[in-house]
Amino acid sequence: MEKNYEVIVIGCGGLGSAALYRLGKEIGASVLGIEQFKLGHSRGASQDHSRIIRLAQHQSEYAALAPHAYAAWNEVERESDVKLLTKTGGLVIDAVAERDAANTGTRNIDGYVAAFEEFGFDYELLDADELTGRWPQFHLEGSERAIFQKDSGIVDAGKANATHIALARAHGAEILEETPVRSIRPSGNGVEVTTDHRTFFADRVVVASDAWTNDVLEGAGVRVPLTVTQEQVTYYATPNLHEFSTNRFPVFMWHGEHNFYGFPVYGEVATKMGQHMGGLPSPVTGDTRTFDPDPVRQLRYREFLERRIPGFLGPEMYTKTCLYTVPPDQNFILGALPDHPQISVAVGAGHAYKFAALIGDILRDLAMDGESRYPIEAFRIDRPALTDPALAQTFHV
Ligand SMILES: Cc1cc2nc3c(=O)[nH]c(=O)nc-3n(C[C@H](O)[C@H](O)[C@H](O)COP(=O)(O)OP(=O)(O)OC[C@H]3O[C@@H](n4cnc5c(N)ncnc54)[C@H](O)[C@@H]3O)c2cc1C
Repeated sequence: MEKNYEVIVIGCGGLGSAALYRLGKEIGASVLGIEQFKLGHSRGASQDHSRIIRLAQHQSEYAALAPHAYAAWNEVERESDVKLLTKTGGLVIDAVAERDAANTGTRNIDGYVAAFEEFGFDYELLDADELTGRWPQFHLEGSERAIFQKDSGIVDAGKANATHIALARAHGAEILEETPVRSIRPSGNGVEVTTDHRTFFADRVVVASDAWTNDVLEGAGVRVPLTVTQEQVTYYATPNLHEFSTNRFPVFMWHGEHNFYGFPVYGEVATKMGQHMGGLPSPVTGDTRTFDPDPVRQLRYREFLERRIPGFLGPEMYTKTCLYTVPPDQNFILGALPDHPQISVAVGAGHAYKFAALIGDILRDLAMDGESRYPIEAFRIDRPALTDPALAQTFHV
């Protein structure tokens, strides 16, 4: 048996690296992070230049956490002196006619407005003319409605993962990369963690393994219903750099026939666009996923941009694939195993990067105190959506 640790974090992606930093800050070398691939790898969910951060949430559970997410990122920026957030403002556009025609049931903006009102976040409601008056980059049909929220923007995921890892190390945390955890086994009040060549013992384990969550939890006799999808984003080498700079073009989410989202020029000298849950039709696993772009989505993005934001386009720089891991209700999993409270689990459901710094702090709470200061009741691992097979999937695509 190797050295004992107070806490072992399994998975050093966006959420695990944030947990390592928060735990390292508290218990230094008594926390160990174990990552199966090299740090910064591109096989999971968290490696890219940009992720959208926003106060705009259509569910109260997330709106309640959103201001804390910004505060947590600001703490990391202050301690590291590394800039991770870029505020661009954000548009949520409801393509009413397109949505109705396609009857896709994607969400409208009323839920966001209700949450803004409930939590007192300022916002602007715009009609199509008001929107194109301020952002002529958009070509709209005329029935669109939109909300603009000034605090939305970009969190630099790749830089943030590396910053969390560096800060964790600065506080004494130990990290093993290229070391797959083969099994975990609850043992007394602690957990045995086995890799190819070593077995560790920890008082607490944090499972932040996203697409591989069920592989890791098998040893604890737990399996949660998760759908893993292969998502993709495309970078366009637009010639219109000035028009699409972070000072002039906001991050956007488009709710129409499909749920698209996009970024101004950031990370690459290119704009970037993706589709939420675009990979749903053909689920994968963390091991069966490919790096091959889906030409259907590549064409779908291009056709949408030609119609709605033509200046955003340019020669395709590259298309990057990435994984979502989604419970049936599309909500986070954040909490301890009821039968093994020494093991806590985090699954980001395809929309957690904006909360990563905060989730790191929540995982600290769960590992150190057995409960969190933040309202996470809605994300329990034993909630009906995860335990009652009769309950249908409620994916918003
Ligand atoms: C295309 C795309 C766009 C997105 N856009 C946004 C956005 O705009 N805003 C937003 O908030 N969120 C967004 N998300 C979601 C967000 O990126 C994820 O929710 C978040 O990154 C999940 O982080 P994670 O740490 O759980 O996953 P990961 O980064 O995948 O980390 C899990 C880690 O566990 C490791 N691991 C697994 N099994 C083992 C094992 N047995 N032993 C050791 N290590 C193991 C893996 O190798 C991996 O490094 C997007 C996701 C994708 C794919």
